[in-house]
Amino acid sequence: MEAMHVVSVSGGKDSTATLLLAMERISRENLRAIFCDTGNEHQAVYEYLSYLEQALDIQIDRLKADFSEQIADKRTFIARDDRTRRQYDTVGIEDAAGNPVWARDGFGKIRFKIKEKNGAPFCALIQKTVKVGGGRRVRWTNKAKRRALAVLHPTGNPFLDLCMWKGRFPSRKGQFCTEELKRNMAVAYQIDLVDAGYRVISWQGVRRDESARRSNVRKSERIGPRMHAFRPLVEWTALDVFNYCAQRSIQPNPLYLQGCSRVGCMPCINVSKDELRTISQRWPEEIERVASWEWLVGQASKRGAATFLPAPGETRTAVDRGNIWQRVEWSRTTRGGSQYDPLADLSEPTACSSAYGLCN
Ligand code: SF4
Repeated sequence: MEAMHVVSVSGGKDSTATLLLAMERISRENLRAIFCDTGNEHQAVYEYLSYLEQALDIQIDRLKADFSEQIADKRTFIARDDRTRRQYDTVGIEDAAGNPVWARDGFGKIRFKIKEKNGAPFCALIQKTVKVGGGRRVRWTNKAKRRALAVLHPTGNPFLDLCMWKGRFPSRKGQFCTEELKRNMAVAYQIDLVDAGYRVISWQGVRRDESARRSNVRKSERIGPRMHAFRPLVEWTALDVFNYCAQRSIQPNPLYLQGCSRVGCMPCINVSKDELRTISQRWPEEIERVASWEWLVGQASKRGAATFLPAPGETRTAVDRGNIWQRVEWSRTTRGGSQYDPLADLSEPTACSSAYGLCN
């Protein structure tokens, strides 16, 4: 069976090096390059992809998720919503001595859930609970319906449409953006190739020294029927990657020269404090875009509000529940957000400031 090699290109250094490696080892007719466009990318990423296509003489297929159907279904759901159920807060029940009362099943056995801590599974007993308060209506109010239906139309931007459909932004715990905008698109592309009779090898630019989660990633593995993953860079360092590209006369994405330590969504929902400050100084238009998205997604949500960083109620940081402008303010502070950092605004936003020391 003929093999088809698929390289996912993101515009970052690792995927660029992976593409270069694949081009050196694989014949062109058995190689495909894809880019999953989230719609939350900096313009420089699109320009860099065009540069790569020209410099390497290869076509990079752009994949873009479309949520028109989901949005149409949600409109219908909201318009017809007439649920009468209420949603209650609950508290755990304790006995007279203050010990938790455990929930039991129909046979009188204590109920438990299997959870995981530090990679090790354990049984967590389930406490019996009781409803408190009068509860909240599950149904969309007429006011919320009118507000959401006025804005809930596909915009053609995958990231924004996804968030309007979900009524919220992704978060660290609910990182549905990666799955919906990247993973599903790449997998669908590869399944089409499998259906066309190919054995698919998915080249992934992943390094073990990137993070603890990736420290044990395997160089190659089977990921499905007639589908394998191949990760040629697992033992490389970031410097190896830059050197490899430089030896082949391929420029790094200019975003690396402007303070970005990673290339991808701008901003990513996992953006660090320093990165957020850099983005707000160098590309304030991206912050303005996110602010307009916060308004739109908020209008499309039942609560009437949505924040990009972080998703409401999922963290307990000093800037909990702040909108993007509040987060930008916080990014200019020191000591956990309690003191304004006068030096933060003095850093020259037009100077080269590569996090990898690419510019001397
Ligand atoms: S995790 Fe970050 S980079 Fe990945 S899709 Fe979500 S916002 Fe984009």
